[in-house]
Amino acid sequence: MIPFLSFAGQHPALREQILAACASVYDGQSYILGPAVSRFEEQYAAFCEAPYAIGVGNGLDALTLSLRALGVGPGDEVIVPSNTYIASWLAVTHAGATPVPVEPEPGTFNLDPAGVRAALTPRTRALLPVHLFGQPCRMDELLTLARRHDLLVVEDNAQAHGARWQGRPTGSFGHCAGHSFYPTKNLGALGDAGAVTTPDAAVADRLRRLRNYGSAQKYHNGEVGWNSRLDELQAAILSLKLPFLPEWNAARQRIAAHYLAHLADLAGELTLPVVPAGAEPVWHQFVVRTPRRDQLQAHLTARGIGTLIHYPVPPHRQPAYAHLGFQAGQFPLAEAMAATSLSLPIWPGLTPEQLAIIVGAIRDFFREPGPGAT
Ligand SMILES: *Cc1c(COP(=O)(O)O)cnc(C)c1O
Repeated sequence: MIPFLSFAGQHPALREQILAACASVYDGQSYILGPAVSRFEEQYAAFCEAPYAIGVGNGLDALTLSLRALGVGPGDEVIVPSNTYIASWLAVTHAGATPVPVEPEPGTFNLDPAGVRAALTPRTRALLPVHLFGQPCRMDELLTLARRHDLLVVEDNAQAHGARWQGRPTGSFGHCAGHSFYPTKNLGALGDAGAVTTPDAAVADRLRRLRNYGSAQKYHNGEVGWNSRLDELQAAILSLKLPFLPEWNAARQRIAAHYLAHLADLAGELTLPVVPAGAEPVWHQFVVRTPRRDQLQAHLTARGIGTLIHYPVPPHRQPAYAHLGFQAGQFPLAEAMAATSLSLPIWPGLTPEQLAIIVGAIRDFFREPGPGAT
């Protein structure tokens, strides 16, 4: 059995340290917005090469509060990828604005700057590029476009902690960036957690108020805020894990390089992710595409290899967004990706032997289509 995801390469070695960090929060008796949150905020800002980091409850809140802190709201349009995880869209909706989907570049799965340009209207207020699957967006082009049209930029960096575009970390480009530390992300807590990074001191201050009932001073509320604070226990755990993130990302990069090298000759049948010049992805997922996706998944399942589909239904086809009136076929690339994408195991600790089994099973599938193939 090769699971789609396991923490076996990360968590056992840290068990005692993590439990000690939890004990220290327990004994410290400061459970909300205490020293562990401040410490992680400093460390994570430094990691992202961003002046400020503000810990929040989760990645969705990180994006929603970013948009609200920047003044995005009702009447505004926000450009989002048509093929992202639905949370990117939900943040725009919760901020009171309208998501405007733009199709991705098929090779990178990321926002296509040309498509963004074509989707601009007088109401466009912000761009929400998602560094999907750990692959950085073309931030230089998107920032140029944003500057020219006076748009705000909120990066969705839930899946790309540590990725770089032209040498600079994702999360350091936009007016804000939302980060999720959901347990399965490259840097994961042991529960829900998130953060916003921003270069702007005033926006950072507003975010600190918004996450805490709109309050800068206890029992004085300047605006209608949320309760979305990074948990002290999660912050202590994240501080402990953060120093290991570069080596965990390097492990993902080695696995991706192996897949790319050993599956390259299946091109034509199996479409591999493309890494453009300037990109240093951190491979949150390794997503391949084939019209025979369901058969390939069944073949791998039969051999005990776990896979997942990211994502089976694009946001514009979800009942949650029926009110926006999108039609089937309106975003054909997002729909094609939903129908053909398959995510392969890629986690720190996956052994070379396991990797060889996965690659061998994929190669067998394309060599001799099984009875389920069409
Ligand atoms: C995980 C994720 C989010 C949401 O993060 P949560 O912490 O689960 O709220 C947002 N956007 C993307 C692209 C994600 O993968």
